Amino acid sequence: MEFELSPAQEALREAIARLCAAFGDDYWLARDHDGAFPAELHQALARDGWLGICMPEEYGGAGLGITEAAIMMQAISQSGAGMSGASAVHMNIFGLNPVVVFGSAEQKARMLPPLIAGRERACFAVTEPNTGLDTTQLKTRAVREGEIYRVTGQKVWISTAQVAEKVLLLARTTPLEEVTRRTEGLSLFYTTLDRSRVRVSVIEKMGRKAVDSNEVFFDGLEVPVEDRIGEEGKGFDYILHGMNPERILIAAEAVGLGLVALERATAYAKERRVFGRPIGQNQAIQHPLAESWMELQAARLMVLNAASRYDRGLSCGAEANAAKYLAAEAGFKACQQAVMTHGGFGYAKEYHVERYLREVMIPRIAPVSPQLVLCFIAEKVLGLPRSY
Ligand SMILES: Cc1cc2nc3c(=O)[nH]c(=O)nc-3n(C[C@H](O)[C@H](O)[C@H](O)COP(=O)(O)OP(=O)(O)OC[C@H]3O[C@@H](n4cnc5c(N)ncnc54)[C@H](O)[C@@H]3O)c2cc1C
Repeated sequence: MEFELSPAQEALREAIARLCAAFGDDYWLARDHDGAFPAELHQALARDGWLGICMPEEYGGAGLGITEAAIMMQAISQSGAGMSGASAVHMNIFGLNPVVVFGSAEQKARMLPPLIAGRERACFAVTEPNTGLDTTQLKTRAVREGEIYRVTGQKVWISTAQVAEKVLLLARTTPLEEVTRRTEGLSLFYTTLDRSRVRVSVIEKMGRKAVDSNEVFFDGLEVPVEDRIGEEGKGFDYILHGMNPERILIAAEAVGLGLVALERATAYAKERRVFGRPIGQNQAIQHPLAESWMELQAARLMVLNAASRYDRGLSCGAEANAAKYLAAEAGFKACQQAVMTHGGFGYAKEYHVERYLREVMIPRIAPVSPQLVLCFIAEKVLGLPRSY
């Protein structure tokens, strides 16, 4: 059993940290202010081949695992880029996993290289306003008309839909009343976001202004049949396949954000003098920071455990969910404590920690809430009755 990163993984972490160092605090403060998409970071990562980190080599990817992708996403977030940086590339890293696993050779050759090269960006459209976490109830319809599907419906919270050229879309192809299991009859598409048939309306939100989230209205979008991934009606299973890697990556991002918050708080605690001594000499300041370090390290190990299990083809649902829960909660506590350690200055944007606190709410809420993770562990690991 090995708990250290390999030399190659350590080199990867250092390369990402070096690349991200070009995007300092002033860059992220400006993006938080003007809301412009961090295209420079996206392009820099594409230029150096990082967007294809876990894509197959035959399509231009690096063919590495979710473990390496998690190390990379933690390093991006930990650089101070936080979720503004991580979310700018998150979907491009893991999102096309269903295409890699269930797409045809023709689809992989057509869909993966432009994403890896950074020529196209993808958004991920699952959540709906009246469905919530109960995905099987989603209402967006894709109706087959010869060689196309016509898509009508509404999605919500769809990140990067303002800038994306492509959308990975889950829609119902067989009405709920006509299927035997609720998970059947949903289909997955990877297609062009044709803005003449799709309206994208930005949602003003608490943090991560630079990476947009949107209401998306589909008004008869025509999707060619060749853009359907896998079999009709099996989309829910395909999405499930990508859920564990997504939870692992977002957990890694939360760990990174927690660690940079802790670093800022610790540095401030050493230099800020009140009552004639550094505030960090007080145990009331030290202990919560020490606690955060332990919680973040524990969460990080769970992230690596889940990632390693995924890469070895072992079941990892419990570990991936646990990683996402532990990392998001530990990240939140660290970011909150970073603000409190800075006192009044913690509330000022120039100290950055208030941005971290706003951004760390995202891995707490999405892609699955802490309550639903607890429900999952209770049912699947402890064998308690399903509660939802
Ligand atoms: C910044 C941001 C970006 C996002 N980006 C995307 C994206 O790109 N693509 C996309 O598809 N989605 C995206 N989402 C959506 C996100 O995945 C959902 O918000 C999340 O899954 C929660 O769904 P909901 O908001 O509908 O909550 P709801 O399902 O309405 O739940 C509300 C609350 O009730 C609780 N709850 C519900 N049922 C139960 C139960 N049975 N037991 C206990 N508690 C329960 C939940 O835990 C939660 O706390 C994003 C969200 C945010 C905030």
